[in-house]
Amino acid sequence: MRIEKYIANSGLFTRNEVKKMIRAKRIQVNGEIVLKAGLNIQEDRDEIRIDDEILQYDPQVYIMLNKPRDVISATQDTLHETVMDLIDDILPPDCFPIGRLDIDTEGLLLISNDGALAHRLLSPRHHVAKTYEVHVREELTEAAIKRIQAGILIDQGEQCLPAKIEQLKETVYLLTIEEGKYHQVKRMMQAVDNEVLYLKRLTMGSLTLDESLDAGAWRYLDEAELTALK
Ligand code: URA
Repeated sequence: MRIEKYIANSGLFTRNEVKKMIRAKRIQVNGEIVLKAGLNIQEDRDEIRIDDEILQYDPQVYIMLNKPRDVISATQDTLHETVMDLIDDILPPDCFPIGRLDIDTEGLLLISNDGALAHRLLSPRHHVAKTYEVHVREELTEAAIKRIQAGILIDQGEQCLPAKIEQLKETVYLLTIEEGKYHQVKRMMQAVDNEVLYLKRLTMGSLTLDESLDAGAWRYLDEAELTALK
């Protein structure tokens, strides 16, 4: 693997930062200063030092993807492209999307091989807040907003927790929910006789979708994002 990719996978530095460190002669492999980016290293054998400190390689990977439409939140699918197909770096084989977005939903999706983090983010007991930009068919009534805020009953039996809702435009809302029931946002809007026309996840816990990522683009989480998340 190329050295800048290997170091960036650790989540400690971006690939550009690694390239800068290489130019500044701050990186060594097996005691030799690395003179240019692109050097191939043996992940399991070579000793990498940055400023004389051994890089403790953390094999855990954390990726933020702006999921586009028509792509499935799964590791494999026979019919559709999956979110994993969009990541063109070599990833550890145990990476998976943390949580699901519907095929027609866009936005923030975390891909990782950190099972403990997945559990913390997805467990209903932890009430991790997720904010969605929701475009609906028609403006919500006051009564509908109150029901959503109070905790709405969906499909005549499933009780949702109280949610936060803020109107951005006539038919565009920011909706924050602390759970992740199947098709939850769509079913909440159906429960008030409305319909979701477009859905995009903007946040998950402390993580906010990087606006510079176009649909389908991704990047590794930076150190501040990782610290906040863990
Ligand atoms: N709620 C939905 O209905 N769909 C999603 O993809 C996410 C939340």
